[in-house]
Amino acid sequence: MRAIRRFSVRPVLPEPLTGLGTLVNNLRWAWHPDTQDVFEAVDAQLWRATGGDPVRLLGEVSAARLEQLAGDGAFLRRLELAVADLNEYVEGQRWFQTEAGSPVSAVAYFSPEFGITHVLPQYSGGLGILAGDHLKAASDLGVPLIGVGLLYRHGYFGQSLNREGWQQERYPLVDPDGLPITQLRDGDEPATVSVTLPGGRKLGAQIWVAQVGRVPLLMLDSDIEDNEPAEREVTDRLYGGTTEHRLLQELLLGVGGVRAVREYCRIAGTPAPEVFHTNEGHAGFLGIERIRELSVDEGLDFDTALEVARAGTVFTTHTPVPAGIDRFPQELIQQHFSPEAFGEGVPVDRILALGCEDFEGGDPAVFNMAVMGLRLAQRANGVSQLHGVVSRGMFAGLWPSFDPVDVPISSITNGVHAPTWVAREISALTNAAASEGDSENMFDALDQVSDEQLWDTKRILRQRFIDDTRARVRASWVNRGASEAELGWVDEILDPDVLTMGFARRVPSYKRLTLMLRDPARLKAMLLHPERPIQIVIAGKAHPADEGGKKLIQEMVRFADDPEVRHRIVFVPDYDIALAQPMYPGTDVWLNNPLRPYEACGTSGMKAALNGGLNLSIRDGWWDEWYDDEFGWAIPSAEGVDDVDRRDDLEAKALYDLIEKHVAPRFYDGKTPARWIEMLRHTIKELGPKVLATRMVRDYVQQLYVPAAQASHKLNDTYDGARDLAQWKARIRAAWPEVRVDHVELQGLGDVPQLGTTVGVRAFVTLPAGLKPTDLDVQALHGRVDSSDEITDAVAVSLHLAESYDDNRHRFEGDLKLDRTGAFGYTVRALPNHPLLATSAELGLATAPSTPADVSPGTEF
Ligand SMILES: *Cc1c(COP(=O)(O)O)cnc(C)c1O
Repeated sequence: MRAIRRFSVRPVLPEPLTGLGTLVNNLRWAWHPDTQDVFEAVDAQLWRATGGDPVRLLGEVSAARLEQLAGDGAFLRRLELAVADLNEYVEGQRWFQTEAGSPVSAVAYFSPEFGITHVLPQYSGGLGILAGDHLKAASDLGVPLIGVGLLYRHGYFGQSLNREGWQQERYPLVDPDGLPITQLRDGDEPATVSVTLPGGRKLGAQIWVAQVGRVPLLMLDSDIEDNEPAEREVTDRLYGGTTEHRLLQELLLGVGGVRAVREYCRIAGTPAPEVFHTNEGHAGFLGIERIRELSVDEGLDFDTALEVARAGTVFTTHTPVPAGIDRFPQELIQQHFSPEAFGEGVPVDRILALGCEDFEGGDPAVFNMAVMGLRLAQRANGVSQLHGVVSRGMFAGLWPSFDPVDVPISSITNGVHAPTWVAREISALTNAAASEGDSENMFDALDQVSDEQLWDTKRILRQRFIDDTRARVRASWVNRGASEAELGWVDEILDPDVLTMGFARRVPSYKRLTLMLRDPARLKAMLLHPERPIQIVIAGKAHPADEGGKKLIQEMVRFADDPEVRHRIVFVPDYDIALAQPMYPGTDVWLNNPLRPYEACGTSGMKAALNGGLNLSIRDGWWDEWYDDEFGWAIPSAEGVDDVDRRDDLEAKALYDLIEKHVAPRFYDGKTPARWIEMLRHTIKELGPKVLATRMVRDYVQQLYVPAAQASHKLNDTYDGARDLAQWKARIRAAWPEVRVDHVELQGLGDVPQLGTTVGVRAFVTLPAGLKPTDLDVQALHGRVDSSDEITDAVAVSLHLAESYDDNRHRFEGDLKLDRTGAFGYTVRALPNHPLLATSAELGLATAPSTPADVSPGTEF
């Protein structure tokens, strides 16, 4: 018989053990080894059997054992200490309180997925892991963040293989009662939010709270009895279903999410967020909801509300692949953002305009979430320096008067949460990673550790990873139809003394899972090399709808199934946090060979690095920025070779060469390979501090959250500032086509311009009625010029108003210093200027002299 409903019965803990409940309900245990040890002490065997899931542990441990523990003084003291430590962690002063000097009351951080622990399977890959690490690092730093996401009843899929090596998906039901989360309640009743759908239907949701250290994560769940069956399914799974299904999820996340934050803050009595951060475009509707709030509650007109909402919104874009961007047919938006649902103050044509691709190369029939994200956020960033460059190019159409370098999308390079990802043994050696903080020289203790000790530690970690992998491979083969009796060979796979390479990530085509198979004979020779063999462990899930990705997995699995090599190359199904945690420490080399520049950042190599793994990677994402030959090897990229096959051939060959000539010889150089260990040390000490999520979150606070909060303050008190700003923008936009830079001249250049000379620049500008000289920033731009007279690394100098001839003719002046030799060029441009703009490119308006002839060197006016 099938149960019509399932629920988990939580145990009633004996009074002396209530502290266990406190520990379980704060997910800090997920990155705090001491707390995990307390759980293990409850019942070591059960702790292992549950895969380290404390909710299941407490649900399944016998009453007799609990009775026994309740009378065990040593255990109780340990429990008390753990609880006291948690309280101190949650309540103490941390970086944000003592050093950030920040005015930010709270930040609401929205993401479609969060990867926090393997027992909360609410993530598919890098985006979710990053969001989880963001919350954890914010907690460690004391940043007042509130996470907002959805609770998917089936999470992301679990992966297995069939006999033929084809990916199989399963969607086990997640029972909220069996998770370390609690329901948000308003008195006796569950707190709920709802969003109005076309035809007056309601999409309601309850709210679960996962406490991530100091940070609450609100998860909206539409599986409630008040909903119609179709609406109950909205939060069924991550990235599944039709376009409309996805829109409903995003509506619930963005709009419902803001409503959930309001409920949470009201009930918990905590300050309302001033900053709203959307991790990728999926939560972008949060901006529309904030405009609606301001329109209904404060009576603001759309443009004023837009300015207020924009000032406090931060948008992080994560994909350099245009196809990776979320787009909806305009009709769907039209149906879901009706006046009945959002009020007369939020006209749907204004919403459509925000997401419209009304620029060169755009499709005006679609609604683009990233475009809306950029228009609704005054501040935006990519996730590595290279991704910043790519994003500025990709979205340059939104700022048509500007060079890509001026496009106002900055970058903050991702990081990873060390206490989550660093093996205990490594933390113990560095005495640092578990400290839930960071500093430049936090890993210096490593200097006191001998080569032998380091090398022995790596061997222990390799062995642990191998044990875990063997168990998984055995289970996978049983699942593929093999009998236990046939599987003796599995105990022999992988060798703790062989150079171990790891490759794990989602399987979109640009990540090129099978690049290493380009020359199978050569790979085989490397795996089976008599003196210097390598072994490779591979993992990754293909999106359920991605047949191409599944083919790549099958190709990989078939290669690895070959009895000749199966002890040296292994595909392990079901890549998730639980698989990943022993994998990073257990590998010597982390392999990454994406098609440059499609890896926005990549974080797995960072996790390997923190565990003393060396990177062997194409210089893409973060590795482009921080590559150093002491941290690993750069696989040369054949970017520019248009023939995809040839490019793969070239890059695969370069990869094989590197492994054969450099990587393997260095690893097998003696019993304790000194050069290798030196690189390992260097990687942890020098690269380690850079790749930390705490570094990333501090960057977000200082570069984005604080300025956004300040901008938000200025517009929020009386809304007069916002009204003025909105009116000013309207005036500027209307009048801008009439702004003219009539004439520019240089003075004091001399016959032969010499280094160090200062020259005067004068620009004559005509303004239309209604614009004042102070509405403009007139800049001289100068720098090196290339063969087509493009200024390549322009420096901008703002000119001052020298004289007004009448109301609309003005002369601006300033000095340029000729500070480099060679071909030098300059020009002048006029930009809108207002103290509340985040950058002068914000409106996308700029005016240059209309013809080059208007720029005349050295002539007197
Ligand atoms: C780190 C991690 C990822 C993301 O890795 P990338 O290098 O960014 O692709 C995905 N899944 C899991 C389980 C991870 O731990």
